[in-house]
Amino acid sequence: MNERILLSAPDVGEREEAYVVAAMRSGWIAPLGPDVDLFEQEMAARVGVAHGVALSSGTAALHLGLLGLGAGPGTVVVTATMTFVATANAIVYTGAEPYFVDSDAYTGNVHPGLLREALHRLTASGERVAAIVPVDLLGKAADYKEIDRVAAEYGVPVLADAAESLGAHYRGRAVGSLAAASVVSFNGNKIMTTSGGGMLLTDDARLAEHSRSLSTQARLPVTHYEHAEVGYNYRMSNILAALGRGQLTRFDGMLARRRRIRETYRSLFAGVPGVTIFGGENDAEDNCWLTAVLVDADTAGWSAADLGASLRAVNIETRPLWKPMHLQPVYAGARSTLNGQAQRLFETGVSLPSGSALRGTDVDRVAAALQDFVTVYS
Ligand SMILES: *Cc1c(COP(=O)(O)O)cnc(C)c1O
Repeated sequence: MNERILLSAPDVGEREEAYVVAAMRSGWIAPLGPDVDLFEQEMAARVGVAHGVALSSGTAALHLGLLGLGAGPGTVVVTATMTFVATANAIVYTGAEPYFVDSDAYTGNVHPGLLREALHRLTASGERVAAIVPVDLLGKAADYKEIDRVAAEYGVPVLADAAESLGAHYRGRAVGSLAAASVVSFNGNKIMTTSGGGMLLTDDARLAEHSRSLSTQARLPVTHYEHAEVGYNYRMSNILAALGRGQLTRFDGMLARRRRIRETYRSLFAGVPGVTIFGGENDAEDNCWLTAVLVDADTAGWSAADLGASLRAVNIETRPLWKPMHLQPVYAGARSTLNGQAQRLFETGVSLPSGSALRGTDVDRVAAALQDFVTVYS
């Protein structure tokens, strides 16, 4: 059997090893230390914001960002239904109620018109909306211009779930700098990794300071243990921050590699009826974290699921797009404003191997398998 080809495996090597070993030898093994501070500074500088708070996961960053913006019991947080469950879970951790909004058909990101409808409905009935949380699906920035317009109309802050979109841009501006605060993830499958980790990025010094405090059990700066509020153990370890710093030195190359992989899929599917590359044509602003295709089964003569099964048979991983939150059993009771697009994307989309760790021979193998499938079934 061929070696398994994964969707987005971690891309780490000797550079990262050197950073991690140096951190270990320095004696800074705790969830604090010089690599944490430098990683925050380097990441904040990269996206062009004043502050970064390095945390144990993207989910933790969402949780603290939401708390900082005032989410809690008695409030509603409006987010995209087309997302990974962490977005919704973090809202629930705060005690707020998640409210799901459906997708733009083209990008899968939150539909600004529906977002406005949702805000109108909620505020008209006197409910307190603590935040809007757009999600940059598969590495394409949401429509922040329109989202900001809605947010300003209703006086609600925006927390960007940019867990998938580090390195992407929106109208020339870097993801991470597009909202009151932004969350990125360094989970093993994301565009860069610290094995597990995340960061809250913001220009707001008070939000950053408060989040940093909450991430270390809200310990007050006195020598005895003194606490005035309930905190969390969410700080990133110095060893993992060192791994992240190693990754950052290679980030542009990893990004370029993912773009080239998308180009390969683009040319491969160019003449295939019923198949489109998900998310549009603007690869230059997209970080190309995952490349997915949408399959119109009536035109193509085969479905996204057929394609997935065929690749699985030759040990190549694929995945459907996220199953929307309003279709998840755990969120069955949640309120939403829907247009059916997220469900359609879930049913017709399939993500293909896209990781920067893929070797040329791996991409060739995937391309050959896709070519074989298309030739046989079309
Ligand atoms: C990965 C991801 C998260 C969670 O990040 P973790 O670091 O795994 O906690 C949140 N939102 C989205 C959209 C994600 O893809």
